[in-house]
Amino acid sequence: MPVFFQSRAGRQCLSVMALGVTLWIIGATLELDNRLVAFVGAFESYGADKLALALGIGGAMSFVYSVLRIMDLRREMELRAVTQTKADWTATHDHLTKLPNRYAFERKMLPRRTKTDDEGEQWERNVTIFSIDLDGFKKVNDLVGHNGGDALLIEVAKRICAIGNADCVYRFGGDEFVVVALGLSSRHEERFARLLIQAVTRPIHINGFAVEVGASVGYDRWLQDEEPLESAAHRADLAMYEAKSTGPNHHLIFEASMQDKVVKRASLESKLRAAIRNKAIRPFYQPLINLKSGNVCGFEALARWTDDDGVNIPPPVFIGIAEETGMITELFEDLLTQACNDALAWDEDVTLSFNVSPVQMEDKLLASRIFKVLAANGVPPHRLEIEITENALIQDPAVAALILDELHEAGVQIALDDFGTGYSSLAQLARYRFDKIKIDKRFVATCREDERQEKIVRAMLGLGDSLKIQTTAEGIEEHSQLVHLIQLGCDIGQGYLFGKAMPADETRSYLLNRTKALAGN
Ligand code: C2E
Ligand code: CA
Ligand code: CA
Repeated sequence: MPVFFQSRAGRQCLSVMALGVTLWIIGATLELDNRLVAFVGAFESYGADKLALALGIGGAMSFVYSVLRIMDLRREMELRAVTQTKADWTATHDHLTKLPNRYAFERKMLPRRTKTDDEGEQWERNVTIFSIDLDGFKKVNDLVGHNGGDALLIEVAKRICAIGNADCVYRFGGDEFVVVALGLSSRHEERFARLLIQAVTRPIHINGFAVEVGASVGYDRWLQDEEPLESAAHRADLAMYEAKSTGPNHHLIFEASMQDKVVKRASLESKLRAAIRNKAIRPFYQPLINLKSGNVCGFEALARWTDDDGVNIPPPVFIGIAEETGMITELFEDLLTQACNDALAWDEDVTLSFNVSPVQMEDKLLASRIFKVLAANGVPPHRLEIEITENALIQDPAVAALILDELHEAGVQIALDDFGTGYSSLAQLARYRFDKIKIDKRFVATCREDERQEKIVRAMLGLGDSLKIQTTAEGIEEHSQLVHLIQLGCDIGQGYLFGKAMPADETRSYLLNRTKALAGN
């Protein structure tokens, strides 16, 4: 049946036509035509013939008019159908890569688990979901601009689509893609994941640059008949995040432990939120010793958190969560306020060292936040030393330089933490003005036994000396290490040999005991 007659207008047209035919049949049966002719003849003198002619012409014109309106209506409906198709496409596709999007994925229908082929045999059809996330895409965007970034995404999309077995490729947003692959055995799934990484990581030429991005891939099989497709996509996502955490260009199949990890992490996150709200995280203080005089020249504040179950959560764990969830600023301001208060109990020449995480170095207001806390607690800026790692300078070097300049100008000292463990320690030294470098504890731990490490430590101390930057050796645990570092000319020492991080109320007695011990020598 033509589409028009399926519509409401078409159905009405059919009904009216049927009614007309019925009336005509009744009229013909009752010979109404003869009566009409007789009637017109009888009343001809009153103009009945003219009236009949006018009604006939009127009827014919109405018919022509109706046909024209019906044709209009048809055109309108066709136009609407085209617009609807376009709107559907827009809602279910990504404009840049022209790939279907997350919404299209949610509406995807896939064949059932088993099918009967021509020979009547049952065969299995595996459906595997691959989740792909690019590594280092932001850097590419910075290098070649947003248009360049768009070109890269289009090329990546093409390459993924070109891999066989990909039933459908989706862009879920940003630099995230999902592939639905059919008929892969376990061995082939692993190979497919490798192919995806190879395809994405091949250099891409954009604006004269050969740019490279990495890819992290997670995957899992869809449990057909048991769950919606999104559940498998969720597991593939978890596997992808796990792969990403192990470094770029890794692929992993989903494992149940990944789900446990996510649950644990979510619980830790809510505990951390409560702990920050209740000010349950406290700074402890580890002494920094001037190796020339033996005096305590400062304390490094190190965050400590014991949760409600009495478990000590390591700082890298909760600092990491605070960074990812944006809680770091609140935690930082809170800890710095506590530390400033505690530092007022120390002698004027004892500095407070405070760690600033890389995420904070992207915050243009960081310096003013610090000044506000210092002013509120009456601590002069020169008593504060900020410790940053190289990672903090890599994210957004321009903003980092701005923050460091502001802090320096106000008199706050800057120490480069974990020196020697990053990618470009020397480049950072050339670029920024540091007051101190802290040689990472890994060098200190091995420098006595390993000649090469010793030479590196010696070089780092020489570098500090020639750049007129003070050097701190971290992680001094043994007396022999201390003696060796003093011989090499290190300025400041820190480590369990002098003391672990202690609560604020123990710092006063530590200072007194240290002064007494020195006086006794
Ligand atoms: P970091 O800044 O390098 O701090 C030194 C770490 O080495 C501390 O671990 C300290 O307890 C440990 N340590 C000190 N002396 C020795 C030693 O002789 N031997 C050994 N084996 N270790 C020693 P902690 O407190 O677990 O902190 C780990 C990291 O967490 C810190 O490394 C720092 O990056 C971060 N962190 C701690 N507190 C904060 C904070 O308040 N804010 C930020 N952003 N990061 C913090
Ligand atoms: Ca530190
Ligand atoms: Ca360190």
